[in-house]
Amino acid sequence: MTLVAIVGRPNVGKSTLFNRISRKTSALVDDFPGVTRDRNYAQITWEGKSFAFVDTGGYVSTDSSFIEKQAREQVLLALEEADIILFVADAKTGLHPEDTLLVDILRRTSKPIFYAVNKIDGPEQTRHLAEFYELGIDRLYPISSAHGFGIGELMTDLAELI
Ligand code: GDP
Ligand code: MG
Repeated sequence: MTLVAIVGRPNVGKSTLFNRISRKTSALVDDFPGVTRDRNYAQITWEGKSFAFVDTGGYVSTDSSFIEKQAREQVLLALEEADIILFVADAKTGLHPEDTLLVDILRRTSKPIFYAVNKIDGPEQTRHLAEFYELGIDRLYPISSAHGFGIGELMTDLAELI
């Protein structure tokens, strides 16, 4: 089964996205082969394709606390087992140096990466998108995990890779 890892800084909306996706068509998976128990998995069917998502804790590059260090290790493990990476950033905070650091790490995996900018709740927020192109990407997915905007398009493009 193809596994998509949702990764990003803390509070960008990864879990909100995960919950929205898994509410749509999926079952929560507690017995995914090779999984570590303290990550959240959901199996999805989208346009006839079956795949799974894993939610991860927020990635921070500076291990200033035990929790942060643990979350960081979990992210690295999730990246190892993933087939596709779904990077999530936050339009409200804008492009953050930690986004750039994380994207560098993601690119070293040579796995396909989808870049989503979350919290695009309305037309007013789309002006925040431009700065994310500094990451050197040609396709950005503006989404609102809270309201559902853009999720269908993202899912359809993910499913196409499977
Ligand atoms: P995580 O740490 O990346 O898993 O982030 P969470 O999913 O816990 O969300 C962090 C905060 O962002 C919460 O207060 C969410 O309600 C909020 N949030 C998540 N998605 C959106 C969104 O699309 N729009 C807005 N305005 N807030 C959001
Ligand atoms: Mg979370």
